[in-house]
Formats: sequence, C-alpha cells, structure tokens
Amino acid sequence: MKKDFTSTLLDFGPLQIYLARHFGFCYGVENAIEIAFRTVEENPGKRIFLLSEMIHNPQVNADLQAHGVQFMQDNYGKQLISFDELTADDIVIIPAFGTTLELEEKLKKIGIETEKYDTTCPFVEKVWNRSEQIAKKNYTVIIHGKPKHEETRATFSHAAFYTPAVIIKDMEQAIKLAKYIKGEKPPAQFYEEFKGQYSEDFSVTHDLQRIGVVNQTTMLASDTQAIADYLKQVMIEKYKLTAENVEEKFADTRDTLCYATLENQQAVSGMLQTDADLAIVVGGYNSSNTSHLVELCEEKLPTYFISGEEKILSAKEILHYNFHTKEELLTSGFLPNKEPVKILITSGASCPDALVEGVINKLKDFFAPKSKSLEEIKKKFQ
Ligand code: SF4
Repeated sequence: MKKDFTSTLLDFGPLQIYLARHFGFCYGVENAIEIAFRTVEENPGKRIFLLSEMIHNPQVNADLQAHGVQFMQDNYGKQLISFDELTADDIVIIPAFGTTLELEEKLKKIGIETEKYDTTCPFVEKVWNRSEQIAKKNYTVIIHGKPKHEETRATFSHAAFYTPAVIIKDMEQAIKLAKYIKGEKPPAQFYEEFKGQYSEDFSVTHDLQRIGVVNQTTMLASDTQAIADYLKQVMIEKYKLTAENVEEKFADTRDTLCYATLENQQAVSGMLQTDADLAIVVGGYNSSNTSHLVELCEEKLPTYFISGEEKILSAKEILHYNFHTKEELLTSGFLPNKEPVKILITSGASCPDALVEGVINKLKDFFAPKSKSLEEIKKKFQ
C-alpha cells in the first residue's frame, strides 16, 4: 500500500505550520532510553556508565547524566573516563548505535556483563547480519557511512571480523574507490587515500574483486542507492557481467536504512511539496539523520537547524547550526513580513516531541493575539 506522506497543517491563522507526517523518536531510540532509565531504577547504589552518548540528543543525555549516568566518551570519541577505572561491579550500557567487538571484548575482560545492558538498535544489528551474510559468501563489505560515527565504527568492526571491509563516506570516495577496482591507480596509493577506513591486511588487488554495499542506517537513502548503483555498474563493466551473473561480483544487499530514517526522509520530501517560506529542523547538532533532513530541506528553501526553542531568540533572530561548516550562526529577519507565514517543521529520530511542541509554541506566540491556541488546533484532530 502506498503510504501517505503529505504534511499536517496546523493553521494558527497568521501562522501556518506544516508538520512532517513522520518525525522524531524512532523505535531504537525509545527502546534505548527505556532500558537506560530502567537500569538506573533497578540498580540503586551501582555505578552506571554509558560507553558514549546514548543518542545524539543533548537534552536526553543531560537527563541521563542528572540521574547519575556517566559518559565514558564525549561526542567526538574523546575518552572521558578510562577503562582502567571500571570494575566488575560496574554497569556499562551500550548505546543504540552499538559498539565495536574490540570494546565489547575489553569490557568482558574486566568482568562486565554487556548483554543485559545492550541497547543496540535491531536495525543496526540488521546491518551487521547483512554484512555477515555477504562476508560468508566472500564478498568484501563496503560501508557507506561517516568514518568517525560510532555506528559506522561498530558496523565496520563487525564486518571486518569476517571479511575485508572499507568505509566510504560519499559518492566522491566511491569514485576514488572505483579507480582501484578498475586498476587505474597504483594500489599503494589506496592506503593513503583511505587511511583509517580499511580493515587490517586489506589487499587492494585481491579484496576489491567481489563486493557488497551496506550503509550506516541514517544516511540519505538516495545517496546510498546512487553509490550502490554506481559500484555495481563499475563491476559490470570491469568483469563484463550481465544482469544474470552480476551477483558473482556484486552482492545484492538492497538498502540497509532503518524504517525510521526512511520514513522521516520520505515525509520531508512529502512536506516539501508545500509552497512554504522556510523550514525548521529540530534535533541534536551531531545527529546524522537530522542533518540529512536539513540537507533535503535546504535544496528547496531557507532552512534553520536548531536544537530547541531557546535558539529562536525573538521574532527577528534565530541561532541555527550550519552542519557543513560546523558552526552556529545568527540570522536576522528569518520570519518574512507577511501573513500567513508558512513554516515546515520536522525533527530527527533522536529528538523528543516535546522539543518540537516547544518550537511551535514559541513561533505561535510571535503572532499573538491573532493566532489560535494550540489546544484549539489540537481539537480538530481529536
Ligand atoms: S534511527 Fe533507526 S537505526 Fe537508528 S536507533 Fe532509530 S530505528 Fe534504530
């Protein structure tokens, strides 16, 4: 059945908000948060650590810290608490994006049980299983993801346990990789060009003859598809394959995006059909899936990526994040001087709905007393 991705109109009168049909929290994040808080509740007096941020959302992480949970690493992979400080009595929660086999092993050696407090999302595990399946058929796993992202590192570690693996971050790197597949570049150069992105003992001449593509679950679906199609074509041309025998060299993995990422992206595409003045995307600044939603919106209209209502300083000024340059910018005059103002709103998979509601309320107040209340609008949907 075809899903409906048209946005939902919240008509406040002088302000019209078009909410994406799907936005915000996904199953994996809800599950991880629930396990984390349950762990705190069930283990009074115990030290509880999180391997790294639970999810990429500052509010959720601050809430966990307020409950006594300590982070072992910061957002950038910097170690805050050494593994030497852990004892077998401690609890270590594995975050939603999973962890590497090496870290799991390290914890087991200390005597820490990892299975019980593992919040790895089933959709991330699905990618690991897919990698394992193709690895067992002797394909090299190409991972489309951000090389430093925890999920990609975890997927890389799981794939590399079984088979050679390489991470590529975008189409540009796929094209570079293709040059080694086609033998157009000296293999020695690969190790410099893909430094930190290939598995141990990777052989350029041997390990690029049979490949399959999986992805970090939160990449842009269209990007992953384009990369997989491109590499497939490269293999077809290099080995003179046909549709019948292409699987000899290229594994059919389909995409390994999670449902939430896909639905949130499709809902943004649906929302962008509306002729609006601007878009606001709410989410953590280091959230991969949120930045992809921003990317989609930016193609069409002025887009403001904010972490919460407090970034809307007034009806004139907004502080927003430019994820390309990784800096927060101040923009004046973000609301056009017209009525109604039409704003598209969505949020990433790690963003609590309350933050979106906060943003809507703040915007609505700028149009008081002419704007209707949120309660009045809600009645229409009851
Ligand atoms: S975005 Fe997808 S893969 Fe990531 S935690 Fe949510 S459901 Fe799981």
